Amino acid sequence: AKDAGRDVIKFFDNSIQQEIAQRHVIESALRRAESLNQFVLYYQPQTDANGRLVGTEALIRWFKEDNKMVSPGEFIPVAEQSGLIEMIGSWVINAACLQIVAWEAAGIPPEIKVAVNVSAHQFGHVNFVSELLMSLSITGADPSRLKIELTESAILQDIEVAKEKILRLKAAGIRFSLDDFGTGYSSLSYLKQLPVDQLKIDQSFVRDITEDESDAAIVQAILAICVSLDIEAIAEGVETEEQLQFLLKHGCRRFQGYFFGKPMPACELEELFFTDLKQ
Ligand code: C2E
Ligand code: CA
Ligand code: CA
Ligand code: CA
Repeated sequence: AKDAGRDVIKFFDNSIQQEIAQRHVIESALRRAESLNQFVLYYQPQTDANGRLVGTEALIRWFKEDNKMVSPGEFIPVAEQSGLIEMIGSWVINAACLQIVAWEAAGIPPEIKVAVNVSAHQFGHVNFVSELLMSLSITGADPSRLKIELTESAILQDIEVAKEKILRLKAAGIRFSLDDFGTGYSSLSYLKQLPVDQLKIDQSFVRDITEDESDAAIVQAILAICVSLDIEAIAEGVETEEQLQFLLKHGCRRFQGYFFGKPMPACELEELFFTDLKQ
């Protein structure tokens, strides 16, 4: 029995070591990824109920030497823990700004915002606001075409500081969306104080919305909160007609999910969604 115990400890030891080694491999490859031009932004359509484009979310993709894609779910957490998220976050903001400039030049109306994910660590940085404003001015991107997606963890670190940063950027015309809403520690009292423009209903509630009564109730409650606080709601992870119909019935008017379109390269989004948009 003693030996077995020792084996178990050894086993854990090995798997922890393996995980550390694995992180190390990702981390050093990430360090080179930017200079090797291995990052790309994909764009997922956000639509109304008829599938007409109302906005886009920029989602990072990392294609390694062998052209294998590493998903952000895998490398963003590593980047956050190693501090590399600041380099990646700056790259994302700059790339999104350049896309905004290109779409403006192509006659895409200003209502089509580009939403960018900003991690808690990145948002918490003292220079976040000034660096973001600098990227906008260097690229010439119109701030009112940019939307920042924050999670609750970004805001709850220090709600007063977060509020002040949001207000400074809102004064420049930037919009805010609260991502993954309902999965964290959201309390209604702080939501009321937060000057966000949009709530994103997390896909974990949308997934079983037509079968799971508590998920359905949560989504209905979030939609009711949005009405009373005058915040736009958008549902993410919409994959089926049934989910869409349920959401519509309860007042949701903005949708994102595979039902309308997956994240795709900018040129593909342009081909599929821009034809009837140009001014
Ligand atoms: P997120 O911000 O919640 O993004 C939504 C994720 O759901 C995306 O995964 C998207 O591809 C996926 N998705 C969209 N529609 C559907 C659907 O109908 N069904 C299902 N099952 N999934 C759907 P992705 O692109 O793999 O990104 C994962 C996470 O990585 C994002 O979650 C976000 O937290 C993070 N991330 C992605 N890009 C960036 C970035 O540029 N910066 C930062 N800081 N984080 C990023
Ligand atoms: Ca997001
Ligand atoms: Ca989300
Ligand atoms: Ca999510």
